[in-house]
Amino acid sequence: MDYRIGVIAGDGIGPEITDAAWTVLEKVAEKYGHHFERTDILMGGCSIDATGEPLTDEAIETAKKQDAVLMGSIGGNTSTSPWYKLPPEKRPEAGLLRLRKSLGLFANLRPAYLYPQLKEACPLKEATADKGFDLIIVRELTGGLYFGKRHTESLNGVIQATDTLTYNENEIRRIAIKAFDIARKRRKKVTSVDKANVLDSSRLWRKVTEEVWADYPDVELEHMLVDNCAMQLVRDPGQFDVVLTENMFGDILSDEAAMITGSLGMLSSASLNETKFGLYEPSGGSAPDIAGQDIANPIATILSAAMLLRYSLDLDEEADAIENAVRKVLDDGIRTRDILPREGTDQVKVVGCSQMGGEVAERI
Ligand code: NAD
Repeated sequence: MDYRIGVIAGDGIGPEITDAAWTVLEKVAEKYGHHFERTDILMGGCSIDATGEPLTDEAIETAKKQDAVLMGSIGGNTSTSPWYKLPPEKRPEAGLLRLRKSLGLFANLRPAYLYPQLKEACPLKEATADKGFDLIIVRELTGGLYFGKRHTESLNGVIQATDTLTYNENEIRRIAIKAFDIARKRRKKVTSVDKANVLDSSRLWRKVTEEVWADYPDVELEHMLVDNCAMQLVRDPGQFDVVLTENMFGDILSDEAAMITGSLGMLSSASLNETKFGLYEPSGGSAPDIAGQDIANPIATILSAAMLLRYSLDLDEEADAIENAVRKVLDDGIRTRDILPREGTDQVKVVGCSQMGGEVAERI
């Protein structure tokens, strides 16, 4: 089949990690008889340098024509780069916010998987790490506290600040549908996280989630309070498959879940809209400190490409092939320098960014 994939290489290590991921995608295309048409799209600092804007209208239109977009990362050194002397709406990150808004990306997916080969990086108890975990956080991205009305006022000489947490049933329904659809592609369990013992918005969340569940009799649903979930993530993360939650809870829990894997360079992410379209990117940033040195770890971007195949193109077998190839690379002791074993490099082969792409591609 033919598919159109936009590539936002971006800044810093972005071009290196997206090129490595593209090498892997090309190998998938060759092996499974697909054609991936690559269209490069400018966003971030490189777009500011070329056009004066972090994201142009033309770039948005190009992105909309794609089946999915793979992104590296955007931004530079926030203390020294001239991009950060510009007003906020002209800075690199403004491009990403605008793209998310223009494409209606309301669902953020952050998998957290502990590779047995890297379990010594896991900061949890050894017995917990030995059990392993493989979960995905599905976070609502465009509602809740971060988008509600807010103001600061002075009442009788005392300054008071107010934020509002609002969700309507449609916003909850569409993210719940995503979570149940994703669960069907995984181990068929959804944990919906809320604070229904206190918040009205959480009680509505619970009600609508249960209504959606009625269409997914093959998927298990459990509800969990957010404070308990924060504890369970460090006590027994292996119990989770799909964790469905609202914007702020998801913001906090997804960082906690990333932390317990111990390896930022391995974590992919996706933001989806109501169609199959999605924007796929590594969880890390543009790492200006190591840009241009061919030492960045491209695995998070390669795994983001696997998510792209799974969730936007419905190519599950091909996505599995990439994830298995990454496991094989680790089994074979191939490492970039950010995931080296603590006891030294005798047992491993240290490779750069582009070679890591090649090693994964070779194992497809
Ligand atoms: P960062 O994630 O870029 O770097 C933090 C540390 O992790 C650095 O030491 C870096 O070398 C290392 N690192 C990150 N990714 C790596 C990889 N793939 N392989 C090996 N090492 C890796 O975070 P930062 O330094 O706080 O931010 C740098 C820039 O990235 C800023 O401009 C920030 O705004 C931007 N940023 C962009 C995104 C995005 O594009 N979605 C996300 C986060 C940060």
